[in-house]
Amino acid sequence: MLSPVPSSAPPVIELSRVTRRFGAKTALNEVSLVVPRGGVFGLIGGNGAGKTTLIKHVLGLLKAESGAVRVFGLDPVQNPVGVLGRIGYLSEDRDLPNWMRVGQFMRYTQAFFPHWDEAYAEELRQAFDLDAKAKIKTLSRGQRARMGLLAALAHRPELLILDEPSSGLDPVVRRDILGAIIRTIADEGRTVLFSSHLLDEVERVADYVAILHQGRMMLTAAMDEIKDRHRRVTLRFREPVEHPPALVGALSFEGHGAEWTYVCAGDSRQLQQAAQALGATVLGDDALTLDEIFVSRVLR
Ligand code: ATP
Repeated sequence: MLSPVPSSAPPVIELSRVTRRFGAKTALNEVSLVVPRGGVFGLIGGNGAGKTTLIKHVLGLLKAESGAVRVFGLDPVQNPVGVLGRIGYLSEDRDLPNWMRVGQFMRYTQAFFPHWDEAYAEELRQAFDLDAKAKIKTLSRGQRARMGLLAALAHRPELLILDEPSSGLDPVVRRDILGAIIRTIADEGRTVLFSSHLLDEVERVADYVAILHQGRMMLTAAMDEIKDRHRRVTLRFREPVEHPPALVGALSFEGHGAEWTYVCAGDSRQLQQAAQALGATVLGDDALTLDEIFVSRVLR
C-alpha cells in the first residue's frame, strides 16, 4: 500500500544528472532518479549497468563527479551522520566480520544505532534460523545474507537499501522472508530500494521500477504505469507484407505475411486506434511481463 507523499516532504532519494567515471568507463551517465517516500522501488539492470555505483552514491560512499545527490533532502557526502543513521543497508558482498559470532555481531551493530530494536532483532534471528553462537566465518552464503539482512533491519530504518538481496537465498526464503519483509516495511510507510536481476521478483514486490542500462537511466515509473504502457499487439493486415508498417511506439516486431506481432510502448486504446488507421485487424492485445518489457527496452 502506498502512503500519500506530503507535499512539503522531499523525496527520500533524488539524483539529478549524476555522472561517475572509473578511468575510461562511465558507470553512471547523467542519471536522474526520484524515489518517493513509502513503497518499494526496484532497480534493475544487467551486469555492470551501474546499480551498485548508484547505491554507493546514495550512501555517500562515492561522490558524484557532476550532478547532485540528495537523501532525505541532505547531501550524503556532507552529512553522513544525518543520512546513514536513517538507512539500513545490505551490501552485495555481505561484508561481515568473520571473526565474530552471530550474537556478538548483533550487539556490536546495535552500538551504532540508537533505535536498534532488541526484541525485533531476536525475533529475526530466530525466524532466520541463525545460531547466536555460530562464528560468522562458518555461515553459508544464504546464512550470511540473512545475517546482513538482520543487521540492516533491526534499527527499523526509514530507508532500507538492499543490493541484490536474493543472491544466495533459496526460493523459499526469498519468497517467505524477503518478500514479506519488503512488503511489511513499505506497508508501514517506510521506503525500500532494492537492486535485482530477478525480474519476476521485482514485478511481484515493487511499486516503482527504474531500468539502468550501461550507466544510463532507460525508464523509471510506477510499476502499474509501466505495465499499462507496454503491450504486445498482434495485427493482421489485408495483404501479406515484406516489412510491417511502422506502428506508433513500436519497440520491436516479429512475424511474416499478413500477421505481425509488435511490442509497443503506449496504452491499449491508443495502439488499437493506430492499428485501425493502418487498416489492420487486432488479433491480440496483451500485457507484458516486466522481463519482456526489460528485454524490449534494453535489447533494441
Ligand atoms: P552487477 O549486477 O554485475 O553487480 P552493477 O549494475 O551493480 O553490476 P556496478 O558495480 O555499479 O554495476 O558497475 C558499473 C560499471 O562500473 C562496471 O563496468 C564496473 O566494472 C565499473 N566499476 C564499478 N566500480 C568500479 C571501481 N571501483 N573501479 C573501476 N571500475 C568500477
